[in-house]
Amino acid sequence: MSNQPLLRFAPSPNGRLHLGHALSAFVTWTAAKTWGGTALLRIEDIDINRCKPEFTEAIVEDLHWLGLSWPEPVMIQSERFEVYADAANRLRQRDLIYPCFCTRAEIVANADATDPDGAPIYPGTCKHLSNAERIERFQRGDPVQFRLHTDLAIEEAGMLTYTVIGPTLTDRPQIRYARPQRWGDVVLQRKDIGTSYHFSVVVDDAAQGITHITRGRDMEAATDIHVLLQMVLGYSTPNYYFHRLLLGDDGQKLSKSKNSQTLADLRSEGWTPDDVRRAVGF
Ligand code: GLU
Repeated sequence: MSNQPLLRFAPSPNGRLHLGHALSAFVTWTAAKTWGGTALLRIEDIDINRCKPEFTEAIVEDLHWLGLSWPEPVMIQSERFEVYADAANRLRQRDLIYPCFCTRAEIVANADATDPDGAPIYPGTCKHLSNAERIERFQRGDPVQFRLHTDLAIEEAGMLTYTVIGPTLTDRPQIRYARPQRWGDVVLQRKDIGTSYHFSVVVDDAAQGITHITRGRDMEAATDIHVLLQMVLGYSTPNYYFHRLLLGDDGQKLSKSKNSQTLADLRSEGWTPDDVRRAVGF
């Protein structure tokens, strides 16, 4: 195996790419070049109700238009549900995950704190169910999700540290402590799709041998959970680089849901790839 840095750009095909994605992609390919490594593309389409194949095709088209390329084959998360289930079973055998039957409304009603993303921290209701109660709920067919037993996982994990490079790509890495407690018992297997963003991303970064993760600062806090999962799954922890975010006129991060102008819109208005580079500061 080579010890060359391996990076990835991992968009979700639930809409067209916008300038925020272009920034993230340029960061990833520039980092790969600076560090003497390779950037992969990974399609994060576990949310099968929101992701569409035509958006995957559009991502490939937009990235090629920007002049970016990657080795094939591209990893497609929706082809890997069994891999995620196997990884979850390894944690289940060690009692590191437990079934939770709570509805969103019940969680909101019972939570007394919020996580770094502002969502209610799970109050732990189903952690205390007896085996008999669990069996009864399963037999009744109640929709179930599975949560990480975060306290137990922390006890098993040992040192929770990771290295962060930045603010520039050539800065020396700094060691940081992960604080997964502030997320509580996160969902690893959702009711609808049987996996979750945190879980799939960690399993796949390890499966692909990703050594350096470049992603926006909005995902910085989630690293706490990712490092914990890497430790309990026996994976090595990559280095991290968190890049600046592009903000819209309202001061908020650009997002697909807010109908930010897409790269396709800009292209049809006559923008060139160099115009996009300049607009995002490259
Ligand atoms: N798929 C995630 C997104 O589109 C990013 C993946 C990651 O860097 O963890 O926001």
